[in-house]
Amino acid sequence: MADPVIVLGAGMVGVCTALHLRQRGHAVTLVDRRGPGRETSYGNAGIIQREAVEPYAFPRDWAMLARVALKRGADVNYHLGALPALAGPLGRYWWHSRPASHQRIARSYARLIEHCLGEHHALIERSGAQDLVRREGFRDAFREADSMRQAVADARRVADGYGVRYAVLDSEALAQAEPALRRRLAGAIHWLDPWSVNDPGELVARYAALLGQSGGRVLRGDAGTLRQAGAGWRVRTDEGEIDAPHAVVALGPWSDGLLRPLGYRYPLFVKRGYHRHYSGGEPPRLPMLDADGGLVIVPMRQGVRVTTGAEFARVDAPPTPVQVPRAHALASELFDLPQAVEAQPWMGSRPCTADMLPVIGAAPRHRGLWFNFGHAHQGFTLGPVSGRLLAELLGGESPVVDPRPYAPARFG
Ligand SMILES: Cc1cc2nc3c(=O)[nH]c(=O)nc-3n(C[C@H](O)[C@H](O)[C@H](O)COP(=O)(O)OP(=O)(O)OC[C@H]3O[C@@H](n4cnc5c(N)ncnc54)[C@H](O)[C@@H]3O)c2cc1C
Repeated sequence: MADPVIVLGAGMVGVCTALHLRQRGHAVTLVDRRGPGRETSYGNAGIIQREAVEPYAFPRDWAMLARVALKRGADVNYHLGALPALAGPLGRYWWHSRPASHQRIARSYARLIEHCLGEHHALIERSGAQDLVRREGFRDAFREADSMRQAVADARRVADGYGVRYAVLDSEALAQAEPALRRRLAGAIHWLDPWSVNDPGELVARYAALLGQSGGRVLRGDAGTLRQAGAGWRVRTDEGEIDAPHAVVALGPWSDGLLRPLGYRYPLFVKRGYHRHYSGGEPPRLPMLDADGGLVIVPMRQGVRVTTGAEFARVDAPPTPVQVPRAHALASELFDLPQAVEAQPWMGSRPCTADMLPVIGAAPRHRGLWFNFGHAHQGFTLGPVSGRLLAELLGGESPVVDPRPYAPARFG
C-alpha cells in the first residue's frame, strides 16, 4: 500500500500532483484555503503552450529596459517599495538570462514542455473536459514590420531546434484569418501545436472532480498550519487534523511564505498579472498575443479576456491595476471590446524562480517534504507533467524526464 500524502495547494500544479499520486495508489488529501483552481490557475490566458520551449528571459536590450523603467506600456509595471527585496532574485534572473545560460536552461525546460499535450490529453479525456479545449493553436501578432521580421527568424530557430510547428501569416492572411480585426497588423506567427482552454479555472475544477471520483479528498484548510508530527506531517483542515508521512508544497506564488519558516531561502519572486473580460463585440477566433502591445486577447466563456504583462510587487500587496486600462485601449485598437464584464479586474501572480525552472522534488532538509512550485509563465501548461514527475519521484519510480535540473537542492 502506497503512503498517504497531503498536497498543499489546489491550483493546476497541486491538483495534477494529487491526481498522479492517487493514480499510483496513495491516499491523497488535497488542501486549499479556497476551492480548486480559484487563484492563478483561474485567471491566466488558458493556453497549453507546447511552443513555449524557451522560458521567459529577463529583457536585455536597453530600449526595452528603458520602457520598463518608465512604466510606459501594458507589459510591465513595478512597485518601487518592493524593489529592495526583489533586487537579489531579479539580479540572478538577469544573470541566468545571458544568451548561453538561457539556451542551456531552455533545453531543460523544453524536456518538460514536450510532455504538456500528452499529459493534459490524458486528464482531459478522463475528466470529460473536451468541451473546454480547442486544439487549433494561437497567434503571436505583430504591429511593427521589424518585430515581425525578428519573430519569423526566432520561430524558425525554435522550430528547427525543438520541432514545434508554426505558420507565418502576412498582414493580408492575418486579416482573413481574423475577420473581426479592426486594423492591419504587420503579421503573425500562428503556433499550430498549442491548445487553448476557454475557462482555465473550470478545467482545474474538472481535474479536481476527477480526483474526488478516484477516491482522493479535497478539503479546505490553511497550509500555514503544517507541522512536523512524529515521522510525518500534520495540517489543520475544516474536517480536523490530517496526518501523513509525506506533504507536497504546491502553493504556487505563496510557496515562499511556507518555506521561509522552515529555513529555505530560495530566489523566488512573482510577476503579477491582471485580466478583465469584455463583451458586446465580435471576439477573435483564436487567442492572440499582441506582442508589441504586451497583452493577450483570448475568447473565453466569460467574454473576451484581456490579460496584462508583468507587475513586480509583493504577492499580497494591494492590486494596482494601472496596466488594465492601457491593455484595454491597445486591445480595442484590434477588436471591438465595448463593455467590461466585471466591476474590478482580476489579479494573479506568476510564481517565478531566478533560473526560470520550476522546483520539483524532495525538500533538501526535511524527510517526507516535497516541493512542486515555481512554474512562472507556464504553470497551466506544465501542471500535469510536473504532477507526474513529482509522483514518480515520491514513489521511487523511474521518472518521465531527468529530474536533476528542477531539483530543490540546486539552490544550495
Ligand atoms: C495573466 C496571466 C496569464 C497566464 N497565462 C498562462 C497561459 O496561457 N498558459 C500557462 O501555462 N500559464 C499561464 N500563466 C501562468 C499560470 O497561470 C501559473 O503558472 C499557474 O497557474 C501556477 O499554478 P499553481 O498551481 O502553481 O498556483 P496557483 O494556481 O496559484 O495555486 C496555488 C494554490 O495555493 C492555495 N494557497 C495559497 N496559500 C494557501 C494557504 N496558506 N493555505 C491553503 N492554500 C493556499 C491558493 O488558494 C491556490 O489555490 C499565466 C499567469 C498569469 C498571471
